[in-house]
Amino acid sequence: VKAGGKGQYRFYQPALSASLVQRLALEQALRDAVDEDQFVLHYQPRVDAVTGELRSMEALVRWQHPLRGLVGPLEFIGVAESMGLIEALGCQVADKVCRQLRAWQADGLPLVPVSINVSARQFNHGDVPGMIARCMSRHGVPASLLEVELTESCMLATDRPVADELTALKALGIKLLVDDFGTGYSSLSQLQQLDLDVLKVDRAFTAQLRNGREGMAFFRAIVSMAHVLRMSVVAEGVENAEELAILQDLGCDEVQGYYVSRPLPAAAAARLLRAGSLF
Ligand code: C2E
Ligand code: CA
Ligand code: CA
Ligand code: CA
Repeated sequence: VKAGGKGQYRFYQPALSASLVQRLALEQALRDAVDEDQFVLHYQPRVDAVTGELRSMEALVRWQHPLRGLVGPLEFIGVAESMGLIEALGCQVADKVCRQLRAWQADGLPLVPVSINVSARQFNHGDVPGMIARCMSRHGVPASLLEVELTESCMLATDRPVADELTALKALGIKLLVDDFGTGYSSLSQLQQLDLDVLKVDRAFTAQLRNGREGMAFFRAIVSMAHVLRMSVVAEGVENAEELAILQDLGCDEVQGYYVSRPLPAAAAARLLRAGSLF
């Protein structure tokens, strides 16, 4: 069996399962997507929990597939990571964010920082601070307009001194956010040592708020711990007024979720920038 090039016949062994064939096709399509720049960003606002004032926008990547339309990141980020393609994709995302910020600025819009999701794998295999610094200078975007979201597993990665990269990002003036907080295994001392700015509490915990005492106690503990460490707290996945009211009561600093806004294409996100406050 040969993985033949153009004009050659390919013979698939029966053992080559349908799902493997699908996977190989997906990998090839993803490589093409990176080469042909088929990714677009949507933006989801993060707002002050009490006033609704816009604080930041999170850039969330989508694949504009030529046949399938818009494909969400859960379908391809993991694959891109295991293929070693996430570095190139992450670079395109950071570049698009900086380009967009510049375009919004040129349109005279009041800007807020945009946060970029960075995979643990990018920290292990690439120079994230260097990559982001190059995007910033290419488009003339200041570090104060960029934030980086990393998961707890990032902070535990041992392949390379990730802490050095996080320190370098901070030295550039970029805020660091811990994504999906509560689902990983970071310790208090790590949170303190790494000088992280914001805890984004995973939406699984937001969803538990309405179930009564326990869910609220958990959130309350995170808020007080974060404030002791001088970090602010964002609740992810806020979907209704009841959750928002509880979070306001618990002293949560900022919220994000469908109740405030879904992730939006750039043009719609620009209208949020102009509005400034979302409550
Ligand atoms: P995440 O960083 O935790 O992003 C939040 C996800 O939750 C987004 O899904 C968002 O659309 C969704 N969400 C927001 N509010 C609500 C809500 O109220 N309810 C519910 N049920 N969901 C909500 P999305 O856009 O499908 O992204 C999924 C994940 O893909 C992200 O999770 C992030 O881990 C990853 N991702 C997205 N963009 C990038 C990127 O540029 N680079 C990397 N490395 N990963 C990315
Ligand atoms: Ca995120
Ligand atoms: Ca998250
Ligand atoms: Ca701090």
